[in-house]
Amino acid sequence: KQLVIAIDGPAGAGKSTTAKEIALRLGYKYIDTGAMYRAVTLLALESGISMDSEEELTKLAEEAEINFAPLRPERNTVYLNGRDVTDEIRSTSVNENVSLVAKIAGVRKALVKKQREMAQSGGVVMDGRDIGTVVLPQADLKIFLTASLETRARRRMNELQRRGENVELEEIKKNLRIRDYMDSAREIAPLRKAEDAIEIDTTGMTVEDVVNKIINLTKE
Ligand code: C5P
Repeated sequence: KQLVIAIDGPAGAGKSTTAKEIALRLGYKYIDTGAMYRAVTLLALESGISMDSEEELTKLAEEAEINFAPLRPERNTVYLNGRDVTDEIRSTSVNENVSLVAKIAGVRKALVKKQREMAQSGGVVMDGRDIGTVVLPQADLKIFLTASLETRARRRMNELQRRGENVELEEIKKNLRIRDYMDSAREIAPLRKAEDAIEIDTTGMTVEDVVNKIINLTKE
């Protein structure tokens, strides 16, 4: 059977690295829903739309065409209206604004609709904040990944350094803390572990460990 796997958790818990590896091993599609919120945020920044104009942001989300190229080990390419935005959506300005965009009801409604369509065929690993609770409550397997703030910040710093951005650890911690707070405290689809999700604390675990653990869970 082609399963639907939902992976949620706070920023930097290792969701995308893990989800991508699982999708590659199982030959599934990988849908990075954070990338979709990031893409809408990038569009807003580029068009000079204010992060509190709900109507305009909702329209952007509804009209944006967001696609993922077939998954490759080294890269999960994201297209926004036909343009490759894989690198741009990871910028500091997007990091700082994405949670403002993600708390808007109309934006969420538009993106959740796209996400459900993408998962329809099965054989998919989807990661985000509300996948197990809201987007795919019927998922075959739900995972909630966590890690200490220190671990998550270090991972994010390594990721940024690989892309040639030098950001202080303290700056990253601050951004993660603010995003975690905003993502957990918002009214619509807050970051929560679904009741039937399996929690894995990845502090001190290698990617390989986490992936193996989840692959084993798919066999149960
Ligand atoms: O996963 P990532 O850190 O790239 O997500 C960026 C932001 O997008 C999160 O901080 C959150 O505000 C938002 N998001 C969300 N719901 C999702 C995925 C991401 O609100 N399913």
